[in-house]
Amino acid sequence: MTFALVHHSDYTAPLPPGHSFPMDKYGAVMRLLEGANCDLHVPESAPPAWLEAVHDPDYVAAVLDGSLAPEIQRRIGFPVTDRIARRSRLVCGGTHLAATLALASGFAVNSAGGSHHAGPGGGAGYCVFNDLAVAAARLLAEGAVHRLLVVDLDVHQGDGTAAIFAGEPRVATFSMHAAKNFPVRKAVSTRDVDLPDGTGDVEYLCILADELPALIDAHRPDLVLYQAGVDPHADDRLGRLALSDEGLRLRDDHVVTTCRARGVPVAATLGGGYGRDVRVIAERHVRGVLAMAEAAAR
Ligand SMILES: [Zn+2]
Repeated sequence: MTFALVHHSDYTAPLPPGHSFPMDKYGAVMRLLEGANCDLHVPESAPPAWLEAVHDPDYVAAVLDGSLAPEIQRRIGFPVTDRIARRSRLVCGGTHLAATLALASGFAVNSAGGSHHAGPGGGAGYCVFNDLAVAAARLLAEGAVHRLLVVDLDVHQGDGTAAIFAGEPRVATFSMHAAKNFPVRKAVSTRDVDLPDGTGDVEYLCILADELPALIDAHRPDLVLYQAGVDPHADDRLGRLALSDEGLRLRDDHVVTTCRARGVPVAATLGGGYGRDVRVIAERHVRGVLAMAEAAAR
């Protein structure tokens, strides 16, 4: 089984020592994927116009020229340096490239991305530019797709993506998340499923199996952009749900199998995953990537 993997070495950018954002996990994911049979693709930086299509142009300009106000950097959760700005643009280019590759071959994955808290006005919650939204808007503008579905299974709601595409009938947004988790004030997605704390594998997978086929059948997307965050895991530092390793693997298999059975390509992004041991988090992401690649090859 071969699959298209998008990666750039500058997806990793330095943060202040001891920062809680697990930047090292992206390098760890690539080391774990070294033996995998993937075609590596290197993205280009998303041009400012792509970013301005979904974010306030003043915000985009401030990120790119290094003049972002301290309170907005605090909302994002880390200092927005030149390297972080470059990383954020590359990840947007990467999700767009993964989407283009998925349209050609059925499945592709970006080795970062899923920055779903960045909204029309700017970044938040470790997200600078919303790569899912940038890619979706660009694909629509290019005429590469006519309708899109964003499937966001990160434990946190995809509030930025929902806000960006509110009133855009060509993009449907689906978010299934822990009700009591960040963000406190939820946006309105096309379809939201708020889960109680401690939701486990069986209940989670039953709900997903009810929701996803119906959404695809109702919306008939040309592409699914998948935010495959592993933070619904029981041991995640920021999650409140209780999925196991096997539960997450079945989830990712289910998303790709369901989409592919309906002829819909899937471009996946890593999304969230938090804990002290970066290798454990990277292993969670890699198990999901390989489960998706296997499902796509079936
Ligand atoms: Zn998350």
